[in-house]
Amino acid sequence: MPDPRLMTDASLTPGAEIALDAEQTHKLATVLRLKPGASVRAFNSRDGEWRCELLRADKRGGALAIREQVRAPTPSPDVDLLFAPVKRHATDLIIEKATELGVRGLQPVITKRTIVDTVRLDRLALIAREAAEQTERFDAPAVSAALPLGRVLDGWDPARTLIYADERGDAPDAQWGGDKGRAAPIADVVAALSPGQPLALLIGPEGGFDPAERQLLRSLAFVAAVSLGPRILRAETATIAALSVIQAMWGDWRG
Ligand code: SAH
Repeated sequence: MPDPRLMTDASLTPGAEIALDAEQTHKLATVLRLKPGASVRAFNSRDGEWRCELLRADKRGGALAIREQVRAPTPSPDVDLLFAPVKRHATDLIIEKATELGVRGLQPVITKRTIVDTVRLDRLALIAREAAEQTERFDAPAVSAALPLGRVLDGWDPARTLIYADERGDAPDAQWGGDKGRAAPIADVVAALSPGQPLALLIGPEGGFDPAERQLLRSLAFVAAVSLGPRILRAETATIAALSVIQAMWGDWRG
């Protein structure tokens, strides 16, 4: 098994000693049953990943000695995820999978049909951090406070393309895409982006977007409406599917 990986804000320099928080100490001592002398990795987006030696992990706390750098940091692709919070388990899954799939930031958005009214940011940040530790990236996605969709769109930087997953574009009983025409297949939209173009992906709640929200989204020049095919996906599936296409065609799956 590869050495356990811990994210830390501490500065990672050879010979330095860093303190572990209670949760990290618990993970190493109790969950993984490591003893002093064990090899551990510590990382952050500034200093990259370093091999470390566990000095202690017990009731009094934990500490690592920093040895040498294993990998220099690489930035995450510039794609954010905007998601309408859904039921707790599904939201947790969205955070974990979006982190594995390399999103840079996570923005919960409150839409008309959002049924969840409290978003526990600390909980989401913890899930993002654990997923970042597991998935060998250098940073955990930043989790922003939930905002109403209108506010997010009002403050939008038009240089960032917002890929909007519009399932109504494929509803058999609706006029496809309403008066704007059918949403384009996601692969066509992503293939037309320039490399390095800043992006965000917007996924709706269980009930989808309401007609006024759809109309607003489709009227904005920085929004690209996309279809994820003829089947209606759950929000968590739509997130995973769309991010996979984005990373494969525009992002860092290309190496
Ligand atoms: N409106 C649907 C369910 C919404 S699915 C209903 O009422 O049954 C949740 C979100 O996933 C949608 O808002 C959309 O952003 C995304 N999504 C799901 N399937 C999709 C598809 N085939 N194409 C584009 N987006 C899709």
